[in-house]
Amino acid sequence: MPEANIIDGRAVARQVRAEVRAAVDALTANGQRPPSLAVVLVGDNPASLSYVRGKVRASEEAGIKGATLRFGADIAEDALLAVIDRLNADPSVDGILIQLPLPAHINAGRILARLSPDKDVDGLHVTNAGRLAAGQVGFVPCTPAGIVELLRRTGIPTSGRRAVVVGRSNLVGKPLALLLMSKGTDATVTICHSRTRDLPCISRRADILVAAIGRPNLVTSDMIRPGAAVIDVGINRVADPSRKRGYRLTGDVDFGAARQVAGWVTPVPGGVGPMTIAMLLKNTLRAARMRAELGARSGR
Ligand code: NDP
Repeated sequence: MPEANIIDGRAVARQVRAEVRAAVDALTANGQRPPSLAVVLVGDNPASLSYVRGKVRASEEAGIKGATLRFGADIAEDALLAVIDRLNADPSVDGILIQLPLPAHINAGRILARLSPDKDVDGLHVTNAGRLAAGQVGFVPCTPAGIVELLRRTGIPTSGRRAVVVGRSNLVGKPLALLLMSKGTDATVTICHSRTRDLPCISRRADILVAAIGRPNLVTSDMIRPGAAVIDVGINRVADPSRKRGYRLTGDVDFGAARQVAGWVTPVPGGVGPMTIAMLLKNTLRAARMRAELGARSGR
């Protein structure tokens, strides 16, 4: 059997980012200010710092004004709520992103609930989660949206196909399952989690298998149907003394083994990760357009 095709998330993300850039240029040529994104970063978690840097850099490359608001890990919850209130009320801010995780003394649910749903470009506010569940228009979390875009642009059919999503988080697994089953995408979806019995038996039936678990190499070749599309969401740091940083990044899928069985597979890094950022830019552009339309309707 030939080796699986590798889905190049970096290349697809580049396309999406170029489209966003062109749309932003069209907006500004029309006299509108560039879209703007405020990223709220609490503490100094190195992974969060690096994600935020990547998001702000990508925003700027797309012509979006990106600003990082940094706070110490000891910021009080009420002070952070006041920051959100200020950003919600600021007409020069289109999108707000709260970089997770937040320190343990802060209730992340309370913080996310305070965001204006119309600026919630990460799609994590319950209003946007509800809109997705109800099939209404809203902001969709960037990683699941990026996965569906990746499938679509790679030409992997979803309609009527069996999709198995391993992981049921609010950030990835749950919204992805909803997107895959939504009208127009039309997959038949099964969701698995840590209590699922006989996972290999279920995953082997998947035409599209998504691993959003956070356990390195959990998905092995015996869990994959020959020819399936395997989407690896996991980002795990595995100790590797031969690397300068002392670790390497690996996914939830045993990539080498999956290549021998699957039809398509995403690498880590370079698969789903770049799409997450590209979709954040798309959502921010959408937030800016919504604000401009509202402004035009209210005569502002
Ligand atoms: P969570 O920890 O919130 O969720 C993990 C899910 O995996 C849970 O539903 C859990 O089940 C399930 N799980 C854990 N162990 C097993 C197992 N042995 N068998 C089956 N299911 C299992 O993680 P996230 O959803 O936030 O993230 C998942 C991974 O994706 C992480 O590695 C994260 O770093 C990565 N990620 C990557 C992104 C990207 O841009 N590429 C963006 C976001 C996340 P249960 O609910 O029962 O506990």
